[in-house]
Amino acid sequence: MSTDPHCIFCKIIENVIPSSRVYEDDEVLVFKDIHPSAPVHLLVIPKRHITGLSAVQAADQQVLGKMMLVASQVAKDAGSTDGFRTIINDGRVGRQDVFHLHMHVLGGPTPLGRMIAMDDKT
Ligand code: AMP
Ligand code: ZN
Repeated sequence: MSTDPHCIFCKIIENVIPSSRVYEDDEVLVFKDIHPSAPVHLLVIPKRHITGLSAVQAADQQVLGKMMLVASQVAKDAGSTDGFRTIINDGRVGRQDVFHLHMHVLGGPTPLGRMIAMDDKT
């Protein structure tokens, strides 16, 4: 399994940094975002270190599909039974902060705000 010793999410996978895990299998881990933006805010990550969506290759197709399936299940298990949102930020333009591929799963009992504002410079 490919890991990066300087990557915070690899350290979470290896239990070097604690997290609140909600799902795990051979390929994928899901844990709660430490700074939730919604009542349900989970992060779905591959256990193999992939820097971001712009870096994926054909060989990653299996784990990418698994991430989608798992996102759907954990969202519902966490209480988002009436819909949710997934976000994958990538690179500078996508405002990615952690360079280990992750899918945000956002939801809760009430509708989220609409999509991004293009003029948000914060
Ligand atoms: P992004 O901006 O898409 O790269 O999102 C990175 C996310 O990782 C942010 O929502 C952070 O709150 C979250 N995060 C950073 N460190 C941790 C951690 N130790 N445990 C859980 N979530 C984290
Ligand atoms: Zn990593």
